[in-house]
Amino acid sequence: MYDYLIVGAGLFGSVFAYEAIKRGKTCLIIDKRNHIGGNVYTEKVKDINVHKYGAHIFHTNNKMIWDYVNSFAEFNRYTNSPVANYKGELYNLPFNMNTFNKLWGVISPSEAKQKIEEQKEASGITDPKNLEEQAISLVGTDIYEKLIKGYTEKQWGRPAKELPSFIIKRLPVRFTYDNNYFNDRYQGIPIGGYTSIIEKMLEGIEVRLNVDFFEQREEFESLAKKVVYTGMIDQYFDYKYGILDYRSLQFETKVLEDTDNFQGNAVVNYTDKETPYTRIIEHKHFEFGTQEATVITEEYPGEWKPGDEPYYPVNDDKNNETYRKYKELADNEDKVIFGGRLATYKYYDMHQVIGAALATVNKEFE
Ligand code: FAD
Repeated sequence: MYDYLIVGAGLFGSVFAYEAIKRGKTCLIIDKRNHIGGNVYTEKVKDINVHKYGAHIFHTNNKMIWDYVNSFAEFNRYTNSPVANYKGELYNLPFNMNTFNKLWGVISPSEAKQKIEEQKEASGITDPKNLEEQAISLVGTDIYEKLIKGYTEKQWGRPAKELPSFIIKRLPVRFTYDNNYFNDRYQGIPIGGYTSIIEKMLEGIEVRLNVDFFEQREEFESLAKKVVYTGMIDQYFDYKYGILDYRSLQFETKVLEDTDNFQGNAVVNYTDKETPYTRIIEHKHFEFGTQEATVITEEYPGEWKPGDEPYYPVNDDKNNETYRKYKELADNEDKVIFGGRLATYKYYDMHQVIGAALATVNKEFE
């Protein structure tokens, strides 16, 4: 009998397995996909590491977590500096002096601030009632119209006027010529892709792929003393309190044999409403690739229905309340540990999921 059955070979399950084995425990890890790594999985196409589930950029302020991931792979100096394409006009992101200069021709930070203030004032919005009003009250009309509106409406599948204002609490506006998207101290892409990190974590651990826990639930449960579950929490409890909603994404990947550089940047966001995808990823630029061909992926946001790949939880009041009820049930299961983005119904960045897994490990083996 194994000490742990781990459902899900994503980052949470893999960190837990690695740490458990280090402590002399035995683990069996299963995943319903045909590969390890969950959403951080990368796959080589034309010698380029393709991020199969969307662009994954590692960033953190936590030195311990940075050192931890660096013990599994060397990271490069990649800095995320996406570009927005609005009907053929290109703007730097996040909103910074380069963006303001291109938008209005302003040179100094005080001119840029004045421009934004004028637009905020002209809008007359004092008590924002929806996402549109919230965004305009934070950054003014030009940035909203060209860089936020279309993108957000595509992402959520609804007019910005019908979206709650809480979705945008803050909008980072920077009055320096700095295109680095993240403020974190550490940032990079693992040289050779994320899959090699997971492979290292799972070295010597029994992994079974293409196996859905729910198809042989009793059999699997009988194999181990404890279960670490990283799948959807509502499914674990047989949807007893209803279904938790997600937003989904579709990825359309194309190999361009005769192009070595398609867009000159890893990430280009399409911020108009008409272009059906929200962004195009050109994977080779994550690792400064010089291959002869290139691989690009268009990202299409979509409604989610049960059976689709769940990507982003919809943490509105209704879903949070449903999750709270499932969490109560989960807290009473003493032989099951729930972890990761699906079992806690939370959007987690990679550094956060590693932090959560290590905290779980500490609690389990204290
Ligand atoms: P997952 O990776 O989802 O792993 C869970 C695993 O469990 C999956 O492999 C699944 O197949 C398996 N599973 C589920 N149910 C069952 C079952 N019944 N039986 C067997 N197996 C099952 N983070 C960053 O830090 N930077 C980024 O730039 C970034 N970009 C992202 C872009 C996108 C589009 C998305 C969706 C996420 C992004 N993230 C990013 C977040 C990152 O993907 C997550 O933090 C991380 O993958 C979460 O790991 P996990 O183990 O919790 O979940």
